[in-house]
Parts: sequence; C-alpha cells; structure tokens
Amino acid sequence: MSDPFVVVGGDAAGLSAASKCKREDPDRDVIVYEKSEWISYAHCGMPYYVKGEVDSIGDLLSLSPAEVRERGVDLHRNHEVVEVDPERQTVSVEGADGTFEQPYDDLLIATGARAVTEPIDGTDLDDVFTMHHMHSAAALRALLTPPEEADDAMFDAGYVDLSELSEYVERDPPETVAVVGGGYVGVEMAEAFRGRDLDTHLYQRSDRPAPPFGEAVGDEITAYLDDAGVDLHLNTEVEALAGDGSVERVVADDGAVEVDLVVVGIGIRPNAELVAETGVELGGSGAIVTDEYGRTAVEGIYAAGDCAENRHTVTGENDWVPLGLTANRAGRAIGQTVAGEPAPVGEIAGTAVLKAFDLECGRTGIIDHDRAEAAGFDPVSETITAGSRSGYYPGNAETTVTLTADRESGRLLGGTIAGEDRAAIRIDTLATALHEATTVEELERFDLAYAPPFSPVWDPILVAAKVLD
Ligand code: FAD
Repeated sequence: MSDPFVVVGGDAAGLSAASKCKREDPDRDVIVYEKSEWISYAHCGMPYYVKGEVDSIGDLLSLSPAEVRERGVDLHRNHEVVEVDPERQTVSVEGADGTFEQPYDDLLIATGARAVTEPIDGTDLDDVFTMHHMHSAAALRALLTPPEEADDAMFDAGYVDLSELSEYVERDPPETVAVVGGGYVGVEMAEAFRGRDLDTHLYQRSDRPAPPFGEAVGDEITAYLDDAGVDLHLNTEVEALAGDGSVERVVADDGAVEVDLVVVGIGIRPNAELVAETGVELGGSGAIVTDEYGRTAVEGIYAAGDCAENRHTVTGENDWVPLGLTANRAGRAIGQTVAGEPAPVGEIAGTAVLKAFDLECGRTGIIDHDRAEAAGFDPVSETITAGSRSGYYPGNAETTVTLTADRESGRLLGGTIAGEDRAAIRIDTLATALHEATTVEELERFDLAYAPPFSPVWDPILVAAKVLD
C-alpha cells in the first residue's frame, strides 16, 4: 500500500470516487473520512419517506459500512477533516480519540452542501427542520406517524441507532405545518404533508414556486398546489419563526400563522470552507472551481459533487448546479483519474425533474433570458401545449413545452416541460440535444418514437421546435 488517495465525505461523490479508484487500482490505499455516522444515503428519497411512500429509512441507504470495507476502502465514520495543508500534503482529522494528521498523495473534497436558514430568525426553535440530513427525515416521519401506526422497520437504519426518536413517535402528530421556500424541496415537502392531510402553508418570496423551472411550469405547479389544498403564500417574505421553546408561529409580511411544525427549504450553500485558505479557487457561487477532470487550482486536490462547480455545456462557463448525477458521475471519473486512467467528469446542463402531486416537470439548459443575454446569446422562447399520446388513446394528457433558442444561430439554449403523462422524462431529449449544441431546426428533424400508447406522431418536443423555428 502506498500513495494514499484520501476522500473527504462519504456519500455520492466521495464513495463513487473511492469505489472506482479501488476497483481500477486494488493496490492503492483509499481512505474515506465522513464526519457523520451516515454514509451512502439518498437525500432525494427523503420527502417520499416522510410522506410514507417509502416504508423504511433503511430503504434510502445504499452501501453499508461493511460493504464499503469489503470493497477494500478504509472508511472512517464520525471523523471530520478540519484542515488541509497542501504544502505538506496532509489533512488534520478529528475523531473520538482526538486529532491526527493523515498524509495524502491525491485528495478529493466531496463535502457536499448544507442548508441555509439565514436571515430568518427563530430557526433554532424545536420542531423546525431543514431537509439536509437523514436524521431530520427520520424525526419528521416519527412526528407525523400516529403512535399506533409506528413500527420498528420504519426507523431501522441498520448501522445507525435511531432509538432516540421514540420520544417523537409518542407525541401527537402536528395538524398545521409550514414550508418556507417553494423550491423543489419545498414543493416535495408540501406534497408529503398534504399526503398526510395536514393543513399546509407554503411560503415563497417570488410570484411562482420553483423559479428555475420558469414561468409556464411555475404557473402549472401553482395550480396543482392550489388544487391539492396547499395554502400558498406567494410574493411573501418570512421574517421569523416564533415560539416558546418550540415553534408556534410563522411571522411573514402577509401576517402570522399558528403552526405546529416548520420545514425551512430556502437554499443550500457549498461546504467549501475547508479549502478556502489553501489556494484552491472558489467561484462566484462559493463552490470550488474545477477543470474537466475535477482538478482544483492546487496540485493533487480534486473536488466533486455539491461542493464543486462544473462546466456548463451551453455557456461553456463554470456553474454550480448541485444535483445527484453530477456528484456520482464526477466522483466516479475522479476515482478513475487518480487510479491512472484520466476520465473527464462531464459537463452539466442543469437538467432537473420535479414531481408536484400528479404534475411532472422538467427543465434543462438556460431558460432565463437575462442569463442567456449575459452569456452572449439573443434569446427567444415559445410555449406550446400538445398531447402526450395519440388523442384517441387512453391516458393522453396535455403537455406544455417551452423552448428557448438563440435568435441568430438557432441554437437550442434550454427548455422546460410539464404534464401528467411521463412529461418529466421527455426532458432528456432536450438535455441530449443541448450536449450536441443542436439547433432548433435540427431538433425539429429528430427521429423520435411514435406509437399511440406512447406518443402522438409529433412528439410535444417536435411540435415546440416547429413553432419556434
Ligand atoms: P453530500 O451528499 O452532501 O455528501 C457530503 C458528505 O460529506 C456528507 O455526508 C457530509 O457529512 C460529509 N462532510 C462534509 N464535510 C466534511 C468534513 N469536513 N469531513 C468529513 N466529512 C465531511 N438531486 C437530484 O439530482 N435529484 C433529486 O431528486 C434530488 N432530491 C433531493 C432532495 C433533497 C431533500 C435533498 C437535500 C437533495 C436532493 N438532491 C437531488 C441533491 C442530491 O442529494 C445531492 O446533489 C447529492 O447528495 C450530492 O452528493 P455529494 O456527495 O456531493 O454531497
């Protein structure tokens, strides 16, 4: 064993890198430090676990510590890396037995991001949660489940002891809840709460939920939230959460609402402070600037996942879009690179999908005109509505597509989609087109599939391309 590859962070990016490196180069010493007790978990499934669609928190866990070690990875949970010294090529690690120094040959920063709660006062009150930790999901599920329906399997996290949650299980479930922030976490949590019949208030400072999905999709999400009985507070700024020990009220510029529980989902910030003083460059987003191989500005230090920026396929500039595939893919590529076979981490297009009750939404690329102009484009957009299947075939549903292109070159810049019938997955056609720098005219001639149960002759994306061309 020699030349340690040290990984900071034991989730998507970190463990993808560690596993891949060990697979490609079994002789390499691969060491992972994870500050919490959790590893290899699916944040993305937390809203569906809270809602009750996923039975057990254990279902959200992928690899166990034993499985990681079976791969030959030297995993240390409850160990926080507190300092990086690029001169000496060491990291300082704090564990239960004190602090020690660990030399590295290659170092991957895969520290993810954390939820922000500022500038809202009172977020430290009891029964206020952010959705950025498995413990929060488990505690919420415990609070929402009536004691007679709770079972041990729900909280069986295998290697993590959640017995302290029994006090939550014994409490009466909340009746009125608030979600602060109407981004994708806020929308998913509103669905989870309404799925349990709770009076649900959703606060969003702008005039539509999910701003990255654009106006047409935002309007549809608003209609679905309204229909589902979510009490929407749009254009509303939450000033504070108030209560005596536990949260009792949301105080916003449209008045105060009495609540039993609050989820704050107003954004995240990259965990990049660890390397801020090392010469590693941070971008405007606060995340770590990386090149096409995930390398930072400091020799031997890589970064991947929610703490890192990536090259955007449309603008060609670095951008921060913290999503699951980006983290797994970059980690895997870096694992291969440090094992001696350089592999690019891949570009991002900001492709994201979101479920809002029965509405499926997708977005990719640059859809905001100001943003497109800043990147040197002259954007033009069109929105169409078309059927998802042949009109006579059962299950056909209206699908709304918005495409944005550069007026002069005709190059597709981005798009959004919404509808009830497999709309979200159609966004992958647009994402693929963006990676090939396709023009709208070329998109119009894409050979997309047609058969009545799946699509009309003219797929909604082809209809939109025809209209925009
Ligand atoms: P993380 O998963 O955050 O892992 C970083 C790890 O590093 C953490 O375990 C942390 O404890 C550890 N760490 C941090 N600092 C240190 C240190 N100094 N020393 C040691 N360890 C440290 N993405 C999608 O693409 N689709 C979705 O539907 C989706 N849904 C989501 C829903 C929710 C509620 C949330 C919160 C996220 C969702 N995401 C989704 C985003 C996705 O989960 C992240 O992009 C992904 O988890 C990022 O992986 P990562 O490895 O970069 O970071």
